Amino acid sequence: MTDRYSEKYGNWFDQNKKHILDEFFTYLKFESISADPEKKTEVIKCSQWVEKTLKSIGFETQVWDTKVNPAIFGEIIIDPSYPTILFYNHYDVQPVDPLELWESPPFEPRVDGDLIYARGACDDKGLNVYTLFGIKSFLELTKTQKVNIKIIIEGEEEVGSEGFSKVLPQKKKELNADYLVVVDIGVPSMQEPCISLGCRGITTLDMVCEGSKSDLHSGIFGGVAYNPLRALSEVIAKLWDKDGKVAIDGFYDGVESFDSSVLFEPDLQKEIELVGINSLYNEKGFSTFESSTIRPTIEVNGLSGGYFGPGFKTVIPARATCKISCRLVPGQDPDTVGNLVAEFFKKNIAKGMNLEIELGHGGSACHTPADAKIAEVFKSAYEDVFEKSCGLVVSGGSVPIMKDLKQASSAELLGVGLGLSSDNIHAPNEHFGIERLKKGMMTIATALEILANKGA
Ligand SMILES: [Zn+2]
Repeated sequence: MTDRYSEKYGNWFDQNKKHILDEFFTYLKFESISADPEKKTEVIKCSQWVEKTLKSIGFETQVWDTKVNPAIFGEIIIDPSYPTILFYNHYDVQPVDPLELWESPPFEPRVDGDLIYARGACDDKGLNVYTLFGIKSFLELTKTQKVNIKIIIEGEEEVGSEGFSKVLPQKKKELNADYLVVVDIGVPSMQEPCISLGCRGITTLDMVCEGSKSDLHSGIFGGVAYNPLRALSEVIAKLWDKDGKVAIDGFYDGVESFDSSVLFEPDLQKEIELVGINSLYNEKGFSTFESSTIRPTIEVNGLSGGYFGPGFKTVIPARATCKISCRLVPGQDPDTVGNLVAEFFKKNIAKGMNLEIELGHGGSACHTPADAKIAEVFKSAYEDVFEKSCGLVVSGGSVPIMKDLKQASSAELLGVGLGLSSDNIHAPNEHFGIERLKKGMMTIATALEILANKGA
């Protein structure tokens, strides 16, 4: 039997378990809700605790003022010629309402068997704590520390990272790294360990279509005045061709192909049944799985106008509104795609309609190749810890901050984390498992050791 790297870290966890849990509980008690202005003091106190903890591990720290909430940066530079890894976490949490559905107060951590209940127990304080103890145990137990470690922990992820993303371009020197590891995701299950090669991008459009100065009586103007709801619906109906492809010229220009055979395929059928989808489609030539992860999409997120009150009001509404978003893949630029969609609507909308379109703040996709070094390092670490093969996934969702961080750090990106969909993140009774705290810590420490042994 070959020796496992991770075993000693598991033992370290067992020996230090009380201390780790004490620290975790202290962290969980801060009511660091970034969405609530009344919790500002708690948010600041939490950020100070994070900085103090980084210092105690041996990091040189910096506090970055972001105009929203401070971000805490730390670095341990052993030798600039060694590879540098940058970790990302966030210390802010979601609001707690509806409070009455919590079985115990959200900021008084409660242990029940293996589970710890508190707001942030998983997202992202649990993952953050195991990252920090992973680093600490690596520094304590490993002789060859041929790796530089940086970490950035922001305090506004749950409110969109607006201030944080704005300071990133000025922090390129600090953030510069070979590898960027975002520790803020989940695995399908603890029997199916996975790491993420990235996510899709997004672009959004807000539209207002105006057909008349005021609402019209359909008895007088029906059959004459063009209804803005009809006008928008007609264009929407043209967005896809019969093969399920987006029918906008140039939409697929530059799209990079991705070999989906390297990816772990979740049981989509089960999820489809769970949420009860009645009607499915996918892009011709691509599976349901591929259509939901590695292909770009266009979606109508909202369409409104007219009368929705009780009874009937026979009206031709003056205006109709529509919200459209596109999920993007590598090779697509959010603004370019947004403009293509806007042009398509302008070109196809009924003559005379006044159509105003506003493009939202988008983000590009980022996919790390499956054979990237950081993916190999973490895959090995996961396999060492779990004694199972580790899958690769790409997320169909979009995390714009990933792209911003990747740009600022010029690093190869990877997403990791042992969250589970059953952890109730963002919901009442959020929880995380002690065994996962241990395994998570082992994955971080083991990955660092593998990286240190391998060199750049
Ligand atoms: Zn998170």
